Amino acid sequence: MSRYWSAVVHGLTPYVPGEQPRLPNLVKLNTNENPYGPSPRVLEALRGEVADSLRLYPDPTSQRLVQAVAARHGVVSSQVFVGNGSDEVLAHTFQALLHHDQPVLFPDVTYSFYPVYCRLYGIAYREIPLTDSLEIDVDDYLQTSNGGIVFPNPNAPTGRLLGLSDIERLLQGNTASVVVIDEAYVDFGGTSAVSLVLSYPQLLVTHTLSKSRSLAGLRVGYAIGHPDLIEALIRVKDSFNSYPMDRFAQAGAVAALEDQDHFEAACRKVIHSRERLVAGLEALSFEVLPSAANFVFVRHPRWEGAELTARLRERGIIVRHFCNPARIVPFMRITVGTDEHCDALLGALRGIVLDAGVTSSATP
Ligand code: PMP
Repeated sequence: MSRYWSAVVHGLTPYVPGEQPRLPNLVKLNTNENPYGPSPRVLEALRGEVADSLRLYPDPTSQRLVQAVAARHGVVSSQVFVGNGSDEVLAHTFQALLHHDQPVLFPDVTYSFYPVYCRLYGIAYREIPLTDSLEIDVDDYLQTSNGGIVFPNPNAPTGRLLGLSDIERLLQGNTASVVVIDEAYVDFGGTSAVSLVLSYPQLLVTHTLSKSRSLAGLRVGYAIGHPDLIEALIRVKDSFNSYPMDRFAQAGAVAALEDQDHFEAACRKVIHSRERLVAGLEALSFEVLPSAANFVFVRHPRWEGAELTARLRERGIIVRHFCNPARIVPFMRITVGTDEHCDALLGALRGIVLDAGVTSSATP
């Protein structure tokens, strides 16, 4: 706290990312990273950039990358915006497209960066409760006048997927403001709403290369929508930083998008491990929400999420626990790792929850 701070800074409650501890032999299942490496073509492309001219600024328009995204999704370049991780794309979206007189709507259980952007940009928001089964009910959004709607699909941290027909119903009923579908995890079991972009000029779909393309370290995300929406994002970007995408990010992301086989194989492996993990957790009496993402959201009838998280940590396994909202406090979010990671997790949980000598501190 300092008297030199602006009033805006005093009012901020920054997002807290999952920790990145540097401990040997850690089983790290807390930040939804891909357990498999990126395409070898990415590494080749990065080496090419080292050999090339790092003294020169990168292309401020990221044209090759924009074209690669467009080709991958069957759209044209004017429908694509790229940014430094989808977090940056979302931040620009809040400022460029969701800042209106009416509140922005998003679920009460969702990606916790959304309220942070609202506070940063002075945007009013309203949290719409998920149903008792922690699902999004589109009708709840259609009944509320708003300055925009945003949610992840699959939702985070629940992993639950909303069908494309529900999204289309939302778009048909909500034409006066922008609808942002954050598809950070869609490649692990969902169907993308990009196919709806041509029909609905108020739809913006965001993606990241951090999860299904194994490039969390490179920081690349993008949005696809009507050229008018994209133009707004470019205007904000060019009023903020001309070069958010460095040479490595641009070259590496192009190579990743071009290696469809590597991407599909990695997604298949993660989905297979998720199914195995779910079966293992259910055998230990965990309730596991149906997940279309690379993580599962689970609770145990006799153990609190915080207690289990702490005990796993003592055993070198890190998962994510959220302290709010209150209704998700009993849960843990577990990233799907390799089968070996998942087996280590299941082994540790078995030791904790089946150990008759230990009394749970949780309420039954
Ligand atoms: N949306 C959701 C729902 C996420 O969970 C994340 C990852 N924290 C992001 C967006 C941002 O991903 P990135 O900035 O790595 O592209």
